[in-house]
Amino acid sequence: MKLNKDILGKKRKDYLSWDEFFMGIAKLSAGRSKDPNTQVGACIVSKENRILSIGYNGTPNHFNDDNFPWNREGKTKNETKYPYVCHAELNAILNYSGSRKDLVGSKIYVDLFPCNECAKAIIQSGISEVVYLSDKYIGTEENEASKLLFDQCGITYRKLEEKHQKTLCLSLKPDEKISYLKEKI
Ligand SMILES: [Zn+2]
Repeated sequence: MKLNKDILGKKRKDYLSWDEFFMGIAKLSAGRSKDPNTQVGACIVSKENRILSIGYNGTPNHFNDDNFPWNREGKTKNETKYPYVCHAELNAILNYSGSRKDLVGSKIYVDLFPCNECAKAIIQSGISEVVYLSDKYIGTEENEASKLLFDQCGITYRKLEEKHQKTLCLSLKPDEKISYLKEKI
């Protein structure tokens, strides 16, 4: 049977693109972070555009987050969050409970460009593409090390295109649809 095109309804035009959808999931995941200064989310996606895992920056399992040094500065490094916190990308990789080979050739969406420690974990897990939003540490030694690692190991990275950098209004109220703010805020 052939469908008569004249009787078909029109599909929505303003549905989310894959990039918008997956970055949206990464940003939503960041909302789970307890870090008072930096909230980062990550979403790992298969070659078939299926979500494999998500992660956000947080404490290691069983480390009570009420009893965690969330500060960025202290008398010693061990009085700050840095030696203890697990980054979003590492958590997303380690949270995946399926077969590790599923990660080979996958993409990771993350709202902040990965640090060099996460870059190594991304490479070793088999992820082949990084999509990010902010590269606010550009020019730092750590950031350059991340890029050198990715370049040497054949991992591609790209910033979410500006046309996709929309503001989404996600309502958790019944009967309210997702909407976009037209103007940048
Ligand atoms: Zn990291």
